[in-house]
Amino acid sequence: MISVQQATEIINEVPFHSGTEHVDIGQATGRVLAENIIADRDLPPFHRATMDGIAIKYEEGVTEFVVEGTQAAGQPQQHLKKGCVEIMTGAVLPEGADTVVRYEDVEIVNGKALVKAPIEKHQSVHAKGIDARKGEILLSPGTIISPAEVAILASVGKTTTAIFNPTPIAIVSTGDELVPIEDTPLPWQIRRSNGVALASALDAMNIGSHTIHLPDDPKILETKLSSIIDVHDVIILSGGVSKGKFDYIPGVLEKLGIKKAFHQVKQRPGKPFWFGRSKTKTVFALPGNPVSTFLCFHRYIKPWIEAGLGIESRNTKVILDVDYTFKPDLTYFLQVKINIGNGSLLATPDAGEGSGDFANLRNVDGFIELPSERNEFKRGELFLYIPFRG
Ligand code: AMP
Ligand code: MG
Repeated sequence: MISVQQATEIINEVPFHSGTEHVDIGQATGRVLAENIIADRDLPPFHRATMDGIAIKYEEGVTEFVVEGTQAAGQPQQHLKKGCVEIMTGAVLPEGADTVVRYEDVEIVNGKALVKAPIEKHQSVHAKGIDARKGEILLSPGTIISPAEVAILASVGKTTTAIFNPTPIAIVSTGDELVPIEDTPLPWQIRRSNGVALASALDAMNIGSHTIHLPDDPKILETKLSSIIDVHDVIILSGGVSKGKFDYIPGVLEKLGIKKAFHQVKQRPGKPFWFGRSKTKTVFALPGNPVSTFLCFHRYIKPWIEAGLGIESRNTKVILDVDYTFKPDLTYFLQVKINIGNGSLLATPDAGEGSGDFANLRNVDGFIELPSERNEFKRGELFLYIPFRG
C-alpha cells in the first residue's frame, strides 16, 4: 500500500490539461486567467495630481504664487510659467510643476495663492510609472480573477480576456442500493448523493460535469464506461473499488485499457482509492463512502486541477486546539471546525461516525492531515488543512 505522499506524486506526474476561451471581462470574475496581462502604458501614465489644490514648482521658502489658470482632469497638459495652476485630482501635472498643495493648505485671494502649511517637494503627486512600467507583466496565468483584477484588465484596455475553460469531467457513481434523488427509497435503499456532491464541487471551480449512475453489473459497466471514457479526458468514479463481491470497477477499468497506477492508499477515510490512466485519460476511482469520496476529491483531485490551471497552492496550516490520538498506521484526515483565535486558525476536531457519516460534514469546515508515522497529536501543533468551504 502506498502513502498519501506517494499517491499525490503519482497523480501529479501527468498534469491536468485545460483549454481556454475568451470572455468579456464583466463575465470573468471567479475564473482563472490564461494569459499574461501586460501594461500597455506606464501606470500611472502621467504625473497625476492626487489632491485638489494648486500645482507649483517647489522652491525652498517660496509660499506665494500668482494663479495662472486651472488644470482639470481630462484636459491636455498645460504649461506652468512662474506662479501656480489650480489643479484637480486626476489631472496631469502642468509642465514645469513638480508639487501639489491641497486647497486645505492654501488661501486664494485676488488671484494670489498663499500657502499656510509646510511644503514638501513632490507632495500629492502620483509619479508616472511608479506603480508599473509599460511592458511589465501585471497578471499571469493562474490568477483567479477578482474585482481587483477586472479593474486592472480594464485599465490596460482588455475588453475580453483568455480564461481556462476545462472540458466537462465525467462523474460516474455505481451501486445497486442507490436510487435517484426524487425516488422514495425502499428500506434497504439510499439516495445517490456522491454524484451531485462531486458535480457541485467541480461547479464551484467553474468546471462542468456529466453525471451518470451505473449498476453493479460488469457487462453494463464495461459497455457504458467504454463510451464514457471515449468522450471524456478525466473520469471520476465513486463506489465499487473495495474488496466486496460486487466491486467490479478496478477489473473493468483495466479491461478498458486504463492502467492501474495505484490501488489503496495508507489513509483514512478513502483507503480503497484506485487511480489509473491511459495515454490520454485520467481516471480517479474513489471509494463510495460519501466522506471518502468527498475527502479524496478535495485532497487529491482539486489540487491536481488547480495546479494544471497554474493556481498557486496555499498549503494552509492550522493549529490543532486539543490533544488528539489516532492509533492505526494510516494518515488520518480528521474533520475539523475552524475558529479564529488570536489571529490564528484553530482547528477543533469533530470526527463524526466514520466515512459513511456525511451528515457530519455540515458541522465542519474541512479536514486536517495527521501524518501516519505518529499516534499522538498535541494541542498547539500545526497541520495541513484541506478546506471544503470558501
Ligand atoms: P462502495 O464503495 O461501493 O463499497 O460503497 C461504500 C458505501 O458508500 C456504501 O454504503 C454505499 O451505499 C455508499 N455509497 C456509494 N456510492 C454512493 C453514492 N453515490 N451516494 C451515497 N452513498 C454511496
Ligand atoms: Mg458499491
